Amino acid sequence: MQNQIKVGVLGFGGLGQAAAKVLAPKQEMKLVAIADRKGYAYDPAGLDGDACAKIYREKDSVGYLESGGVLSNNSIQDLLEKADVDGYFLALPNLPNTFMASVARQFIDAGWQGVLVDALKRTSAMEQVLAMGEDFKGAGMTYMAGCGATPGLLTAVAAIAAQSYAEIHSVTITFGVGIANWEAYRATIREDIAHLPGFDVEKARAMSDAEVEAFLDKTNGILTLENMEHADDIMLELGGICSRDRVTVGGIVDTRNAKKPLSTNVKVTGRTFEGKTSTHTFTLGDETSMAANVCGPAFGYLKAGVSLHRQGLYGLFTAAEIMPQFVK
Ligand code: NAD
Repeated sequence: MQNQIKVGVLGFGGLGQAAAKVLAPKQEMKLVAIADRKGYAYDPAGLDGDACAKIYREKDSVGYLESGGVLSNNSIQDLLEKADVDGYFLALPNLPNTFMASVARQFIDAGWQGVLVDALKRTSAMEQVLAMGEDFKGAGMTYMAGCGATPGLLTAVAAIAAQSYAEIHSVTITFGVGIANWEAYRATIREDIAHLPGFDVEKARAMSDAEVEAFLDKTNGILTLENMEHADDIMLELGGICSRDRVTVGGIVDTRNAKKPLSTNVKVTGRTFEGKTSTHTFTLGDETSMAANVCGPAFGYLKAGVSLHRQGLYGLFTAAEIMPQFVK
């Protein structure tokens, strides 16, 4: 199909593999590039996501793919220099907390011109990419920040819900995540552990898989997260919705059960122009997985980003200021 958006996925763990599945039936987007820690796969005619996932499961890298696979310890750099891609979804671990910003910097330094979409979570990580806004603009890149579920879908919902009010009192995001096996989403779980009392990003990053396992044994596989440092706050502040101290994010992650421990929701409380206080509540369907609620929006924002880019609109945009576009 002409004008099909050529998509790359960086990181081929839980979210990266789900992203390939989400893309498979799409007409408007074609998956042409994937990178993981040990290699990359590139095929301008399109990659078979299932074949890539099979190789990744068996050998731990898509670089082993017979046609288009290349082993490399510098997979992102090698891929970005070689591949013709309109936009990349960054499904990478943000470990250390500066990793995503350093990857974005690699694209700028390479003179790459296209769209990047992240699903960054931490406010301090978002601040690093926000600080690069002018650099993206100068480079001719369109960077879509915070485009997963939270931040992402739920932040955008809060920005829309806020329109009923004259003043926003609070935005409260509460998520429930159920995954059958933590190893399918190692980075997500490590980054969540980093929010728990007594932990930080470096400590969580340094934990071996066995240590994560032992920790989860102690909590029965459950992570209870409160008052998280989540970039929904800075995104809503930048969007002019409310100050960041009015935004609260927390949730429960069950790492041993695909069923959600609670229904993910966002509550937006405010005062209307008539002086009434009210709360809008938006609840995600329990059957929608974390992967569905991250990858769907990420590609919706990628499509929006490509349309901005094609109009010559460069720089950084967050999920709270741009509408995602549905990908057919
Ligand atoms: P994962 O651990 O399952 O997979 C990470 C992948 O990245 C692996 O394929 C690994 O090989 C690859 N990788 C690591 N270092 C690399 C490097 N230097 N070069 C190339 N590839 C590299 O990760 P996951 O659980 O799918 O999470 C991905 C990210 O998504 C995390 O940062 C997580 O916080 C974020 N996330 C965001 C949301 C949201 O709603 N915003 C929700 C869930 C997860």
